[in-house]
Amino acid sequence: MASGTTVGSATTSQDETEVAKNLHSHRPFFVPARLLCRPGKQPPLPRTASYALLLHVRRRVSMFAGSLGWVSLPSGYYFYVGSARRCLSSRLARHMRRQKKRHWHVDHLTSAPGVQALGAIVAPASGECELVQRLRDQHGCVPAIAGFGASDCVRHCGAHLLLVTDKSWVIGDEAYAQH
Ligand SMILES: [Zn+2]
Repeated sequence: MASGTTVGSATTSQDETEVAKNLHSHRPFFVPARLLCRPGKQPPLPRTASYALLLHVRRRVSMFAGSLGWVSLPSGYYFYVGSARRCLSSRLARHMRRQKKRHWHVDHLTSAPGVQALGAIVAPASGECELVQRLRDQHGCVPAIAGFGASDCVRHCGAHLLLVTDKSWVIGDEAYAQH
C-alpha cells in the first residue's frame, strides 16, 4: 500500500497514466488531490470502492461534528476511511471541496480552515472496515475520535478517522500540499 504514495513530484499526465495502470490491478493505489479537484474532468476510477482520504490538519482544529458534538483534533496527518457505492470520483471530489452541505462527520473536518485533503488511497478490493484494520495493523494508524465516521462500521473499528503515527510512508504528501 505504501508504494503508491510516492508520486508527489509526478506530473498530472504521469499521475493519470499511473491511475489507469493501477485501475485493474485490484491493489490499493494513491490518487493525488490535483487529479480529484479539476472541474469537469474526473480521473478514471472504479465506480465503487473503499478509500482512505489523506488529510493534513495544519493546526489544531475544533469543530462541531453533528452527533458527536464538539471535537478537537491536534495537528497531524489523518486518514478518513469511507466507501462509495455509486460514484467514487464524485465522492472524492466532494471531499476536496470546502463549500458543501455538511452531511457526514468528515464534512465538518474537510470544510474546516487549516485542513487540507491531499488525496486518497483507493482500495477496490477491500471493505471499508478491512481498510481501517490494515491501516492500523500494517501502518500503525490509531483511532482519532471515538465513533467518528463509523456509523456504518460492521467490525467495531472504534473510528473510521485514524491518526497517522508513522509519517515516513506519507512523506510525499509534502509535495502534494504544494499544489
Ligand atoms: Zn469499521
